[in-house]
Amino acid sequence: MPLVPRPSKIVCIGRNYVDHAKELGNPVPDKEPLFFLKPPSSLIGNGDAIVLPPQSKQVEYEGEIALLIGSTLSRASEAEATQAIRGIVALNDVTARDLQRKDSQWTRAKGFDTFCAVGDPYFGTVDLANIEVITRLNGVERQRGNSSQMVFSIPFCLSFISHVMTLEPGDIVATGTPAGIGRLSSGDVVEVELVGISTLRNTVA
Ligand code: ZN
Repeated sequence: MPLVPRPSKIVCIGRNYVDHAKELGNPVPDKEPLFFLKPPSSLIGNGDAIVLPPQSKQVEYEGEIALLIGSTLSRASEAEATQAIRGIVALNDVTARDLQRKDSQWTRAKGFDTFCAVGDPYFGTVDLANIEVITRLNGVERQRGNSSQMVFSIPFCLSFISHVMTLEPGDIVATGTPAGIGRLSSGDVVEVELVGISTLRNTVA
C-alpha cells in the first residue's frame, strides 16, 4: 500500500485542460468541473506494476497533479480548501479508453485494480498555479502541462467537490490530464513527474 491509511475516496476531475478535451473530441466544461470517483482498491504505489485487464484492448495513461487532503473539508471556501492540502503527488489515472467510450459512466473504465498509481507525496509549500506535470513513456516525453492551464484551478475544484461530498483526511483529488494521452502495452515503463515535487514510475504487466 502506498498510502496509510487508505483514502476513503479518490476524486478525479475530467476535461480540466482544453487541449486534452479537444484531443478526445469532447466539449470543455465551462461552468462547472466534471468529476468522478476511482475506488481505493485501484491504488498502487511507486514501482508497482500496472496490470492490463483482459476486458480492455486500449488501456491508456493520464499523468496528473493530485492533492492529498489533510483535514476535513465540507462546503469549504477556496481559501479553506487550500489550507487543507497536506501534500502534492504525481498520479497516473489509468483508463480503459475503449470501455470508457462504451459505458455511459466511467466506474469500470477507471476502476480496475492497479489503475490509480500514486507517487510519494511532497509536503512542502508549492505555488498551486504553477505546477509542471510531465508524462514519459519508455523515456520519451508524451505529455507536458501546467496547472496554470487548467480550466478550473486547484482551490476551485476542491471547494466545488466539498460542496457535494465531504473530503476527509487521506482522500486524494486528481485534477485532470493535459493532452498527449496514449496507449500502454505490456513491458512499458510509464513515468509521471511533477517537476521538483514528486515522481512516479510504474511498469506495465
Ligand atoms: Zn484523468
